[in-house]
Amino acid sequence: MSKVKMIFMSLFTLLLLAGCGTNQVTQTNPTPEPGSAEQDKVQVVTTYSILYDIVKNIGGDRVEIHSLAPIGSNPHEYDPLPEDVQKTTDADAVFYNGLNLEAGNSWFEKLMVTAGKSGEDAPVFRLSEGVQPKYLTTKGKEGEEDPHAWLDIQNGIKYTENARNALVKVDPEHAKVYQKNAEDYIQQLKQLHQSAVDQFHQIPKEKRYLITSEGAFKYFCAAYDFEAGYIWEINSENQGTPQQVLEVVQLIKSKQVPVLFVETSVDPRSMEMVSKETGVPIGGVLFTDSLGKPGEGGETYLKMMESNIHVIRDQLQNQ
Ligand SMILES: [Zn+2]
Repeated sequence: MSKVKMIFMSLFTLLLLAGCGTNQVTQTNPTPEPGSAEQDKVQVVTTYSILYDIVKNIGGDRVEIHSLAPIGSNPHEYDPLPEDVQKTTDADAVFYNGLNLEAGNSWFEKLMVTAGKSGEDAPVFRLSEGVQPKYLTTKGKEGEEDPHAWLDIQNGIKYTENARNALVKVDPEHAKVYQKNAEDYIQQLKQLHQSAVDQFHQIPKEKRYLITSEGAFKYFCAAYDFEAGYIWEINSENQGTPQQVLEVVQLIKSKQVPVLFVETSVDPRSMEMVSKETGVPIGGVLFTDSLGKPGEGGETYLKMMESNIHVIRDQLQNQ
């Protein structure tokens, strides 16, 4: 190809891309009229559905939220779409979990750079701020943080406080609204935490074994006094290798674990194999890295935790 032709082709491609970009912006994100209620709202991006729900509870009608990793998916790894890049660029506040969650392929870090939100003063808020981290134990991963802090409702309260503080910072005019909403929401979270403690009291100590596909329950187990077993420790690593299956099968047999669990955001086939291998049934489905889809139960953080509490209590108590 001649040089001139190549330059012409590149220019043509650029023009084409620019054209596409403009169309997309007008289609998905029409510029609101100045002074309209739409423009007045705080534009928020969250990395996955659980954070979406927590921020929504505090922001109410004051916030317009775009959530990145879709419901039912695994936020450890995600490929942002052009729409995600646009919304993140335009956002007044971005909320992420941190603690090594959005780390697969550095997708979140890259997105912040692309969206111009990687600077020191960028309005990007880590909701796990102040949580005492727990660490992975898999060989070669020791020292890496385990992200699943939200499965301890007391940490959910910390997330709420962090989200409240962030919204007050970006929209101080409506501080009172955020403070009131957070207060009400924290009250509900406190009640649910206490209810979990009370309900789990009914499960004998020797039955408090929680076997799941991903080892997402470290914080949960510490808060509610369970032991955890899993096939793989974190969703961003190899999942369900023969060695991993062998190890969990041995654990289940040696501890005489009565029942196994699967998660809504994880392929159940590995656990089905473990169940077949051990003869121990899969007793229920838990929510870990995602809210439930509409009609599936667990559509909010409160509901997903409530569902987990009931499923675990019923399954372990009745074995
Ligand atoms: Zn996970």
